[in-house]
Amino acid sequence: MTAQQIRQAFLDFFASKQHTIVPSAPIVVKNDPTLMFTNAGMNQFKDIFLGEAEPKAPRVADTQRCLRVSGKHNDLEEVGVDTYHHTMFEMLGNWSFGDYFKKEAIDWSWELLTSVYKLDKDRLYVTYFEGDEKEGLGKDQEAYDFWKQYVAEDHILPGNKKDNFWEMGETGPCGPCSEIHFDGRTDEERARVSGATLVNADDPNVIEIWNNVFMQFNRLKDGSLQPLPNKHVDTGMGYERLVRVLQGKTSNYDTDVFMPLIQFIAEKSGKIYKAEATPRADGWNEAVAMRVMADHIRAISFAIADGQLPSNNKAGYVIRRILRRAVRYSYQYLGFKEPFLNQLVPLLAEQFKGVFDELYSQKDFVQKVVLEEEVAFLRTLQNGITQFEQVVNAANNNVIAGQFAFELSDTFGFPLDLTELMARERGFTVDTEGFNQALQQQKNRSRAATAIDTGDWVLLKDNDSVEFTGYDEIETIAHVIKYRKV
Ligand code: ATP
Ligand code: MG
Ligand code: MG
Ligand code: MG
Repeated sequence: MTAQQIRQAFLDFFASKQHTIVPSAPIVVKNDPTLMFTNAGMNQFKDIFLGEAEPKAPRVADTQRCLRVSGKHNDLEEVGVDTYHHTMFEMLGNWSFGDYFKKEAIDWSWELLTSVYKLDKDRLYVTYFEGDEKEGLGKDQEAYDFWKQYVAEDHILPGNKKDNFWEMGETGPCGPCSEIHFDGRTDEERARVSGATLVNADDPNVIEIWNNVFMQFNRLKDGSLQPLPNKHVDTGMGYERLVRVLQGKTSNYDTDVFMPLIQFIAEKSGKIYKAEATPRADGWNEAVAMRVMADHIRAISFAIADGQLPSNNKAGYVIRRILRRAVRYSYQYLGFKEPFLNQLVPLLAEQFKGVFDELYSQKDFVQKVVLEEEVAFLRTLQNGITQFEQVVNAANNNVIAGQFAFELSDTFGFPLDLTELMARERGFTVDTEGFNQALQQQKNRSRAATAIDTGDWVLLKDNDSVEFTGYDEIETIAHVIKYRKV
C-alpha cells in the first residue's frame, strides 16, 4: 500500500463505523496561551471534553497535522538521529464523545490493524493501565479483558501511571490508556529476546504506533478523581510510523512519505543517502542532515501556511530556530552553500495536494518566506562556523563559554540550541547560565538605550520587561513586506 492509500484506508474504515470525517485543525494554535502548536489530534476537541462545547457528531475521525517542538512534547533533539520521531507528523485519530467506549475502541483498532492492514499479530504488543495505589485506582480490567479476546497473554503488558494514564492538565478530563506497539525486528532477534521486554524501552525497532485514551474521570482542584458522566474515547496513531510498519521498513524515512524529499536532497547535493549509517561511522552526518532537512521543511512549511511566520519571538522564533537548524545541517554536511531548503516546498506541496491543500494554495508564498530566511542566515553562517571552530580548537576544556554562545547568537544569528547541537557534535557542552546572563545584560543595556532615545520621560522600573506585543500583526502579508526590507 502507498502512504496515500494507508491514510485513506484509516479514514474509510472509521467512516464505515459511522464516524464523521473532519478536517485537520491548523498546526498553529491561536487564542490559547497554554499551547503554541497543535501537538495531538485531541487539541481541537478540548472544549468538548471540558464540557464547554457541543460535539458536531458523536463519532469523528481525521488526520491531524501535529508539531512537537516545544512545551511538554518536544521531540526536536530526536529528529533525524532516531528514525521515528518527527517535528511535524500526522496523527490519525478516532473519537467518541460520550458515545462508544473501550469495547468498540479496542475491537476496531484490532480489526483495522490485523484485518484491513493485515499486520502480523505476533508482532503486536498492547499495554493497559496497571492501577495506582496513591490514586486509589485498580488495574484497567475492562481493557485487559477486551484485549484478551484477541491477544496472547504474554503480549498484553501492564503500564504505570506515567505511560498509561493520560491527563489533559492539572485538572480536567483524564483516564487510563492502552497503547499498541509493533516489533519490527528480524525473526532471529525476536527469537533471542522477547519483544515484551523492549516495549517503551527506546528500541528503534519496537515502536509505539497507537494510543487509545479512555477518558472516564474528571480531576478536581483538590486532586481527587470524579467519574465522568459522559465517557469519551480519544485515539492517536502516528501515520508515518504506521506507513513504515506496513511498508516493512526499519525507518520512517525509508517510506514514500519521506523518500521523494530525501532523493531530491541526495541528488542535488551529489551525495548518497546511507540509511543504515551508524553514529560516528562514515556517512552518519550526511544521513542525519538529509533526514533533518526532509523533516524540518515539513514543520516550517505547514507552520507558515497556517499563519506562523519565522520571527524573533515566541512561536515565530521556534520556527526560525528549526529553519536555521536545517540550513546549518545542509550547509555544513551536504555542501549547500546557496539557498536550497526552499526548493523542497513545491515537492511537499504536491505531496499533500488533496490532503492539506492549505500548503498547495500558498506554496509560492511559503517558498519565498523560506528563501528569504535562508538568504539572511547564509550571510552570517560561515563566519559563525569559523568562529565556533576557532573557539573549539583553542579550548582547554569541553565547555563553550556562555558569553561566546551569546555572541554567536547576537552577531551571527545562531540560536542557542544550534550552538548546543554543534557543541554536542564536538563533545562539548554550552554554559547556558552564562548565555542567559549575557542575554540579560544586553536586555538591560537596550532598555537603557531606549530610555535615552525616547527622552527623559521614560521611567524604567526594575521589573520592566521589554516584551514584543505585535504577535498577531506579524502574520499579515503587509507585515511580511516590512519584515523583508529589514
Ligand atoms: P513516543 O513514546 O514514541 O514518544 P508518545 O507516547 O509521546 O510517543 P502519544 O502522545 O501517545 O505519543 O501520541 C500518539 C501517537 O503519535 C504515538 O503512538 C506515535 O505513533 C505518534 N507520535 C508521537 N510523537 C511522534 C513524533 N514526534 N513523530 C512521529 N509520530 C509521533
Ligand atoms: Mg513522546
Ligand atoms: Mg509513549
Ligand atoms: Mg503514547
